[in-house]
Amino acid sequence: MTMPREKLVDELIEESGNIPIVDCHQHLMAETPLTTDLVRVIVMDNYVSGDLVAAGLSPDSLDWLKNIKIPLKARWAKLFPFWEKVRYGGYARAILITINHLYGGFDLKEEGQVQRVSVRLAEDYAQPGLFCRLFFNHCHIDTVLTEGSNFSYDRPRFYWVFRPLDRADFSPGGLFEQDCAKLGIRLKSGDDLPAAMEAILRSAVKQGAIGFKAVAMNWSWPNQEEIRSAWQQRKTKQATVRSVFLRLYLARIAAIAAESGVPVAVHTGAPWTNWLDYRQWEPTGLIPLFCSFPETRFDLYHAGLPYIDQASLLAKTFPNVWHNLTWTHIISPEMAQRCMANWLDIVPINKVLGFGGDYMNETVVLTYGHLRIARENISRVLASRMKKNLIGKDEAREIIRLWFSENPRELYRLKKD
Ligand SMILES: [Zn+2]
Repeated sequence: MTMPREKLVDELIEESGNIPIVDCHQHLMAETPLTTDLVRVIVMDNYVSGDLVAAGLSPDSLDWLKNIKIPLKARWAKLFPFWEKVRYGGYARAILITINHLYGGFDLKEEGQVQRVSVRLAEDYAQPGLFCRLFFNHCHIDTVLTEGSNFSYDRPRFYWVFRPLDRADFSPGGLFEQDCAKLGIRLKSGDDLPAAMEAILRSAVKQGAIGFKAVAMNWSWPNQEEIRSAWQQRKTKQATVRSVFLRLYLARIAAIAAESGVPVAVHTGAPWTNWLDYRQWEPTGLIPLFCSFPETRFDLYHAGLPYIDQASLLAKTFPNVWHNLTWTHIISPEMAQRCMANWLDIVPINKVLGFGGDYMNETVVLTYGHLRIARENISRVLASRMKKNLIGKDEAREIIRLWFSENPRELYRLKKD
């Protein structure tokens, strides 16, 4: 038997559905029809796949499960025992809500249901217009910030956030040198790096980038000697050498972002798959960067989770720092609610961005379930505050509007029509 949810929470969830939402972070490329089925969508979700592997599924089995030439029944039989171990988690909940609301599934407990959901999912992915149906019609999302590639549609409107660090391979003939060559720049020494980095960043802004994406690190200024020495050793790809280049690149990103009037989005905290040492993304390591670039606007992703308390104070202490709940709502719905409750106490309400799907093309439909969880999380936090007589319903509505819609439009200076 399921327990009814509180009426107040339900009302706020319902009302949050009327707000035109900004999806603050996706990894989407331009839409193309895809061939898929239920098992493939589940295992292409690298978040829930991480849970499946943590539960004991071998990484080799993931590749086998992705192969839609193998009958669905056999793959579901292989996946099911592991699915049963992860289905209570936030990632799986986003999947269950999506298939329940959009594809006629319920709990994936019986064979016929799995087949039915699979056919409907496959049809939806094969039919052009998926982004419009999903974002605009089902989710009421009118704007999406994506890091996948630079493309545009009317509904929803997509904006591109550039990821310079994906190409931060500084070895001889490596990706960075290749990108420089395309811009007519030849690197002769480490002294040429700052200008080359600037040229790459400015070229992205010229092509329409509305922000740069980076990752958290224990940041400090690299000095000339370090840069020269790293340049000499760039063949080695050692972590210490790489760290010098990354600290230099992050400084250039922060500087050019301020000059170009775009924010710097920064991944903080959480690992997106197994075996990652997430301590390297602890968010307070960025404090020297915030202080060195007071004119740069920093959009911190994922609340630094699991370092949520350390992260929380950053948007309070530094006028140039915002919090962005992208992905956070499903990594841990509980921690996301704790963050929001905490931020209402300590962070100005204009410093929070409420939602980002954080999926790729193969898993994009899960944005629906993710957004439902986000709406529920914020509604629970605000309802609890209303019950304590700390805010009224109009104020709760206004906070939802700011976090899900207004604040991201302001921070990224998006056009309003
Ligand atoms: Zn992401």
